[in-house]
Amino acid sequence: MAIGDQVLCLKTTARLGLLDGTLPDPVEVFSQPTLNAFMARGRAAWRAVRERLTILLTDERYQETLAEALIPRSAIRVHLPFEVADYVDFYSSEYHAVNVGRIFRPGAEPLPPQWKQLPIGYHGRAGTVVVSGTPIMRPTGQYRTPDGPAYGPSRWLDIEAEVGFVVGVPTTYGTRLTPEDFADHVFGVVLVNDWSARDIQRWEYQPLGPFLGKAFATSISPWVVPLDALAAAQVPAPVQDPPVLDYLRESRRYGYDLTLHVRWNGTLVASPPFSTMYWTPAQQLAHLTSGGLPLRTGDLFASGTVSGPERRQCGSFLELTWNGAEPVTLADGGVRTCLEDGDRVDITATAPGIDGTVIGFGEVSGVILPSGTGGAP
Ligand code: MN
Repeated sequence: MAIGDQVLCLKTTARLGLLDGTLPDPVEVFSQPTLNAFMARGRAAWRAVRERLTILLTDERYQETLAEALIPRSAIRVHLPFEVADYVDFYSSEYHAVNVGRIFRPGAEPLPPQWKQLPIGYHGRAGTVVVSGTPIMRPTGQYRTPDGPAYGPSRWLDIEAEVGFVVGVPTTYGTRLTPEDFADHVFGVVLVNDWSARDIQRWEYQPLGPFLGKAFATSISPWVVPLDALAAAQVPAPVQDPPVLDYLRESRRYGYDLTLHVRWNGTLVASPPFSTMYWTPAQQLAHLTSGGLPLRTGDLFASGTVSGPERRQCGSFLELTWNGAEPVTLADGGVRTCLEDGDRVDITATAPGIDGTVIGFGEVSGVILPSGTGGAP
């Protein structure tokens, strides 16, 4: 658990007996290399541990004992916080979808006809989800050139700033969840950078959707923020018109007031607002399970690129530079339309906490390595 510039080791905390009574077996659960065992326990267990940790961290009686379990953040190395089961990526920002439609299909209706009827998504590649800090090797692939198809290192590497939701409680085959079931199954939130090779994507994506252009690496932040920590960040989600089918209807429709910050070689280039997302994560989960597929602990579903109405709120460089027509000038003097080898991207986020506090998310960072030099995963 990250607290300011320190980390509380839950394994040590449990061994000290300080988590007794929260779970039947806290030492065993927190001695695992990932959060999966804990995430599978469900909401009552998540709350019991969270409440106990709040007491431990605020009540002075525990300060001396707890010191044994605190480690400076600078002394740790981060790993994937959970074992990723299946990975799904949605496409739920109306601003993003309209921008991409205008760029990729000029003159045509920007939104596909079903876009407002269901949250569009695709099954991605769970095995190439990597933790923040993992170097990202420029992928090679096939793309179109004026002289015909060619194969080589991608010439158009991009990012997608997204928010990811992590499933804790699994379901059995045939279970269909409603939007109201969301908080009983989803443990928490990570930040996601869905690295995208636009040249490969553009050549391959019709009619079956993204394939290799998005399968080489997807980075996530190392800290999962529990949904309960985001209670004060809930905000009404945009009104949906036309109305959605019953299985996607929500009695209380909410999103999260979370602002992402995208830095390109240190320069803040965009601040996408997650509150503008047309489809909520609860609807995404209801749609994902609407055919009865079983959820697994560690399933990750990402929101899709988060973009707002302003250019500086766009969560991809495709939009930010409007297909390369309007390059971005960075503070170091660099002029960019897409990622160059050696470039670094950092995505962070903030959300309102209780009593005027601000919740920070773990960053998701990556540096681009030249093609063929190793790297992710
Ligand atoms: Mn994406």
